[in-house]
Amino acid sequence: VSSSVQPRTVAAPGAGGRHAPAGVRRPVPPLRTRLSDGREILYFDDAPGADRSARDERGLQPVTTSSELRHDPFTDEWVVIADHRQTRTFLPSASQCPLCPTRDGLRSEVPASSYDVVVFENRFPSLAGTAPAPLPASDAGALVSAAGTGRCEVVVFTDDHDAVLARLPPQRVRTLVDAWAHRSTELARQPGVEQVFVFENRGADIGVTLQHPHGQVYAYPFVPPRARQLANAARAHRARTGGCLVCDRLALELAADERVVLRGRAWSAVVPFAARWPFEVHVVPHRHVRSLPDLDDAERDELAVLWTDVLRRLDGVFDIEMPYIASWQQAPVREADGHLFGQVLSLRRAPDKLKHLAGSESAAGAWVGDVRPETAARALRAAG
Ligand SMILES: [Zn+2]
Ligand SMILES: [Zn+2]
Repeated sequence: VSSSVQPRTVAAPGAGGRHAPAGVRRPVPPLRTRLSDGREILYFDDAPGADRSARDERGLQPVTTSSELRHDPFTDEWVVIADHRQTRTFLPSASQCPLCPTRDGLRSEVPASSYDVVVFENRFPSLAGTAPAPLPASDAGALVSAAGTGRCEVVVFTDDHDAVLARLPPQRVRTLVDAWAHRSTELARQPGVEQVFVFENRGADIGVTLQHPHGQVYAYPFVPPRARQLANAARAHRARTGGCLVCDRLALELAADERVVLRGRAWSAVVPFAARWPFEVHVVPHRHVRSLPDLDDAERDELAVLWTDVLRRLDGVFDIEMPYIASWQQAPVREADGHLFGQVLSLRRAPDKLKHLAGSESAAGAWVGDVRPETAARALRAAG
């Protein structure tokens, strides 16, 4: 039985928008200032001209962080130990939300009385500070550790506490894409940073501690395992075939068609052939670009439409707000080659059931999928 639901095409917002003459939109440069404890805050606005001079009147003392990296010789991976985060704010009521704009009775992390997209350094970061020196070489015969340097930023998508990213207008999502690209460029230049990782955790099932719609950016002082695996696989594929693994894989998926969720002009969304999670979508630019800053204007505009389309489809599968993790795989800072893609995954396998990472996944590292990738793709196509 073949599905009668065809992949939908998406159109980028027309060039007739107020801020998009002739399809070209120069991102509004962020306005930057500091919070009372010295952390940086950057306002990314949909349109220029906003007043962002409000000061943080809280008089916060700087938080001391004590993150440590420990090398695991069994896997050749770094583990971040960040026990100071145990005291961080946990599910505050809406009236005490630290991400809402500052107003009478609430002095939040954002001094402005309204904003579009705002980025600031996390007060309880897993990683902080700069490290000009490379990490110590791993040595199985010694206990190898290092300071947990890097940077953790919070990216707030809207000043509306009750909004969801999936339903924000394309213009705002475009501002968000520009903010992701800006942070990726700037953090990659910070001494000691090896990987910039942009992500959003959504839903209490994922462990989200703040309800207000927001994501995060981590600048790691090492290449995280998944990025390293991807880079190694891409390098091996390049050596064997001369081609790009992601380009070649995308062509294969578009030809097979079975797992394609959305086909755009510059992007496609597909469920990977060997998906691990009940619902997992890769959002892939058709052009071979290594990172978010490399996306051109048309690609960013189309992404602003397609990204939220994928998220709405996820919510549409069971007609509930799905818990998800959305993230971007960019080439590591020191990797010249690579092909950017977004990954959206949900651990909810049925309206009342979550996938738990139990024995096989957590202990053996072998994934057992609960939903056939083709079935998930069909459900996501039908949910549009
Ligand atoms: Zn809020
Ligand atoms: Zn490629």
